[in-house]
Amino acid sequence: MAKCAICKKDLHGVPKNVKKLPESKKKVARKFGGYLCGSCIRKIISEEMFAGVA
Ligand SMILES: [Zn+2]
Repeated sequence: MAKCAICKKDLHGVPKNVKKLPESKKKVARKFGGYLCGSCIRKIISEEMFAGVA
């Protein structure tokens, strides 16, 4: 069982919420899919977005 690299939560495949994200965010989510959980992916995405804007 794969575990999230950040919070060590068990991963159950690709998070479903990724499909609801726009294409640009989906690309980032795919990058982390498989070793980060959905909430950590969301956290990384918002941080990357923030870094991109700032
Ligand atoms: Zn996590």
